[in-house]
Amino acid sequence: MDEKKWDALDALFCEALVPSDAALDAALRSSAEAGLPAIGVSANQGKFLHLLALMQGASRILEIGTLGGYSTIWMGRALPADGTLVSLEINEDYARIARDNLARANLSSVAHVVVGAAAESLQHLIDEQSPPFDMIFMDADKKSYPRYLELSLHLLRPGGIIVGDNVARRGRILTPGTDDADVVGLRRFFDMLAQDKRLTTTALQTVGSKGWDGFSLTRMASHPA
Ligand code: SAM
Repeated sequence: MDEKKWDALDALFCEALVPSDAALDAALRSSAEAGLPAIGVSANQGKFLHLLALMQGASRILEIGTLGGYSTIWMGRALPADGTLVSLEINEDYARIARDNLARANLSSVAHVVVGAAAESLQHLIDEQSPPFDMIFMDADKKSYPRYLELSLHLLRPGGIIVGDNVARRGRILTPGTDDADVVGLRRFFDMLAQDKRLTTTALQTVGSKGWDGFSLTRMASHPA
């Protein structure tokens, strides 16, 4: 493995295909200045999410794990003017920074950051009979992905998609008999995805400026039985 080459190739892809701009740069800068960890998606991954949202014709997107709102900006930009993005974040300071970043990206009218433990926020959305979402991006604590999946399935429209981030974890997911809660959670997440007959899922490894990791991609049947 040659991580320098991964970085160089990501830089080439981004230079050729994924131009940055003032709002994205400001989001990264303000997040770094506030001491947020650099664990958001890379630029080309952000654009990948943007493209998935466009391909999905998404007008409602749910994100689990906001951080400074970098991925939120990418996905929010795929929405029509009357679209909605709800992003769930447990850390109030991160949420404040994300809201500022979303405002700078002119997305405050469509993108809303909800502070709280994601499982509780998801349950609240279910209880208040939220309209269904076209796309759900899971990017918070990996140990809770099974619970997030269980709850998300109540919030996803038929034909909707779920993207799960960080499902490879530099190969740690392979470790047999591990007591790493994130790995246990991800393995259970895969089992649940495989067992639910309404769902079609794959997972892909990724390498690049964010190291070695992966995404899962799931689609809910258009006409669930
Ligand atoms: N999606 C962001 C991006 O790509 O720009 C990165 C999200 S970061 C990987 C994960 C975020 O999930 C962190 O901001 C963390 O505070 C949040 N988080 C962790 N546990 C959570 C929980 N139980 N409920 C809600 N958010 C949580």
